[in-house]
Amino acid sequence: MILADLHVHSTFSDGKMTVPELVDFYGRRGFGCIAITDHICEKKSFLGFAAGALKYTLCRETFPAYLDQIAVEAERAWATYKMQVIPGFELSKNSWSHHRSAHILGIGVKSWMSAELDILEMTRGLRQQGALSIAAHPVHTGLLEPQTLHLWSRREELAQEFDAWEVASGRKFFHDVHSSGLPMIATSDLHHPKQISSWKTLLRVRPGEKSTEAVLDAVREQRLEFGFWNDASQRIDQRIGAGFDARDGKQGRLDSSGASRQPVLVPFP
Ligand SMILES: [Zn+2]
Ligand SMILES: [Zn+2]
Repeated sequence: MILADLHVHSTFSDGKMTVPELVDFYGRRGFGCIAITDHICEKKSFLGFAAGALKYTLCRETFPAYLDQIAVEAERAWATYKMQVIPGFELSKNSWSHHRSAHILGIGVKSWMSAELDILEMTRGLRQQGALSIAAHPVHTGLLEPQTLHLWSRREELAQEFDAWEVASGRKFFHDVHSSGLPMIATSDLHHPKQISSWKTLLRVRPGEKSTEAVLDAVREQRLEFGFWNDASQRIDQRIGAGFDARDGKQGRLDSSGASRQPVLVPFP
């Protein structure tokens, strides 16, 4: 198992830490893999235009330098910490309406993509370049912030378009996503160092194997669990399995944090 955070922002968009600072921040905590996923904002909406004007978004001009720096830092991260660093981005359609806003993560990206495309062009384009397509924070985050609910309202139609849906993007676990039967991933959506205390994904990938494909496959095949990283104790202090108790159709979370480490089904509160 490796500890992964596949939704992390740097100063290339609205994150507080540079890519090298993120590498040391996660490397020192023993993470096995991170993905840098800076925003590419749609320009035609006013909010997207404002993000561009404030340089809170990647653009075609900064994208090559972004990929270059991630590649350089990926080498250093592996040499220093045995941690993989994967290039990604977050295609961000921001509208005044929560129900029209959508964020889509591409993980393992190789080339530029515009956020002006429609949803299907994005998800299919991401998979064509070998990347994961992930529905970011698809349900209410429980925070006072703009919400991105468009993908969730179309989840039946879009179910096959995403390799995973975020079951957490911070401290709050999204029970609606967990009980949906859709494939899942938990991330911190880290912008600020203090957001490190949040849900993460534990991937069944051999530690010491440097392979982006192995990480992407573990998500595609849902070989994963979720864990809450408590930064005060520098450890995972709660674990939740991705599955359900299929034997009697009961829904709940599989919790393996007990002394026996055998997962037990805990009904949703
Ligand atoms: Zn987002
Ligand atoms: Zn984000």
